[in-house]
Amino acid sequence: GLALRSATKRYGAETVFTDLDLTVDNGSFTVLVGPSGCGKSTCLRALAGLEALDAGQVLIDGVDVTRLPARARGLSMVFQDFALYPHMTVEQNVTFALRLQARHSRRGAGPDRAEIRRRCAEALTLLELDGLEQRRPAELSGGQRQRTALARAIVRRPRAFLMDEPLSNLDAQLRGQTRTQLARLHRRLGTTFLYVTHDQVEAMSMATRLVVLNRGEIVQAGAPEDVYERPVDTFVARFIGSPP
Ligand code: ATP
Ligand code: MG
Repeated sequence: GLALRSATKRYGAETVFTDLDLTVDNGSFTVLVGPSGCGKSTCLRALAGLEALDAGQVLIDGVDVTRLPARARGLSMVFQDFALYPHMTVEQNVTFALRLQARHSRRGAGPDRAEIRRRCAEALTLLELDGLEQRRPAELSGGQRQRTALARAIVRRPRAFLMDEPLSNLDAQLRGQTRTQLARLHRRLGTTFLYVTHDQVEAMSMATRLVVLNRGEIVQAGAPEDVYERPVDTFVARFIGSPP
């Protein structure tokens, strides 16, 4: 799994968290939920290697990766704005990282052309993007763009997907559809998902494990039903919307 161990992060005089322990089990769909500013994105970025900790460690399957750069951690980040290359087609966007990998790795190490084509076709089918291979991002709907970003993440076979509010730019209907799709994707792939949101409905609908963060501290973690039915305090109860 992924873990932060006794992690401390400060921005200047402001401490985001101190001595924080966070564990994300392999194969889980863990949702990190909490109010704005509580430190969710910072946790995710620290795990991904996009932000250095002031103290503590990042572990991947028990191995200390604190000093490994982001690209060496084998994780995949999916951002809010999807960040597709506008001049590339869907197929080119999805296969870009693999083609780079093939070009820069020594002969035989990276995926070959046939493998890249196969993985791309598989990801496009999984995300219902068949037939859109030659379109550019500007010629896609919001949902199709977002699924293209997911396909691009999947083809790299990451050990985990880290997602920071990836649905916040979508309308309510599309958000609902995509939630269902993400949950299905998780069941199909069996890959670890760590998903950050401040939306409790989103959290409850997809999580196999819920972690509630407030002011840099984990106030409760567990199965979403348990957190909902047995909140540890009034903060969690109000935030999750548990019945009184
Ligand atoms: P949101 O739900 O609004 O995205 P969040 O839980 O993701 O909130 P973080 O982005 O982790 O919150 O921020 C935690 C705290 O750290 C906030 O008080 C924020 O202002 C501060 N912070 C985050 N990034 C920086 C930065 N680059 N420089 C200074 N302060 C920062
Ligand atoms: Mg955030």
